[in-house]
Amino acid sequence: MLAGVLHGAKDLRIEHVASPVPGPGMVLLRVRRVGICGSDMHYFEHGCCGAFVPTRPFIMGHELTADVAAVADGVTAPAVGARVTVNPARACGFCDYCKAGRGNLCRKTIMLGSASTTPPTDGAFAEYVTVRADQCHVLPPLMADGLGAMMEPFAVALHAVKRAGSVAGKRVLVTGGGPIGLLVLITARAFGATPVTLSDVVAGRRESALGCGADAVLDPAAADLAEQVRELTGDGFDVIFEASGAPPALRQAFDLVRPGGMIVQIGTLGTADVPLPANQLMAREIRFVGSFRYGNVFDEAIRLVETGRVDLEPLVSEVFPLANLPEAMRRAFAKDDVIKVQIEVNPTPDSI
Ligand SMILES: [Zn+2]
Ligand SMILES: [Zn+2]
Repeated sequence: MLAGVLHGAKDLRIEHVASPVPGPGMVLLRVRRVGICGSDMHYFEHGCCGAFVPTRPFIMGHELTADVAAVADGVTAPAVGARVTVNPARACGFCDYCKAGRGNLCRKTIMLGSASTTPPTDGAFAEYVTVRADQCHVLPPLMADGLGAMMEPFAVALHAVKRAGSVAGKRVLVTGGGPIGLLVLITARAFGATPVTLSDVVAGRRESALGCGADAVLDPAAADLAEQVRELTGDGFDVIFEASGAPPALRQAFDLVRPGGMIVQIGTLGTADVPLPANQLMAREIRFVGSFRYGNVFDEAIRLVETGRVDLEPLVSEVFPLANLPEAMRRAFAKDDVIKVQIEVNPTPDSI
């Protein structure tokens, strides 16, 4: 089969490789559409992603729509021919965290298209990929492939908003207008937050946020930022979703959150320590919580899109064929006019 194989930093080759064979409990998926994630971009740019250093060349990609091409013996669902999206985080299902419904904290998680394990796990920038049967979530017939491939990043946002508890009626700020930030904005709005504000240093991203329904946007570098926030919120935001992964944005969140408010960390801050005004956690009773990947929210994510409660269509900016994956990857770095870049995969019937 054809696949995009990452050999090192900026060395992404379209190659013929052996098709994967589904082991016990697994299914073989014929890939239709795959989104490029920020983590894929990290691997592409640096050859690694934070502490995850691949020990061999591997295939990235974990945001997908695919058809079930074959299932291992004993697998009863999904059926061959079903069109599915995938929860790429395969938790063990048996540990204390999994049993407590917190599978995103499972230490044995195997992540699709990731070097978080040794050796890395091949992902979906390929004609075929294997996943465990229960990682599949069947898509409604009318949902476009491009939206099916948005369910994974949407699940990140959905989980983050749930981590905040109810956001109904709350004044919400999202810092960072990348795909995840915009998805959090859309989700918070759908769950009743008001007003919803997004901040980003890039003007194009602030524009995208307004297009996604933000009530207001902020330039975090503006000299009169404090005044603007006072006008919008009075004493500050009830909930701030930090989706930029920029330490200054997190530091600023402590200035912009109101007493008793909450900061939800979604962005990846890197491995270095980040100095924070930690005394404010005590003196102003600020809650600072993390949000990692997602819980079991994929079917809910699908329903929210299917019923039109959230519209993710505007986020899919451009679609490239698999053969142009390196070009698509470079395009995804354009912050001003690109939100989500996806890859369309059209396997030839005999490519398996
Ligand atoms: Zn992703
Ligand atoms: Zn587990």
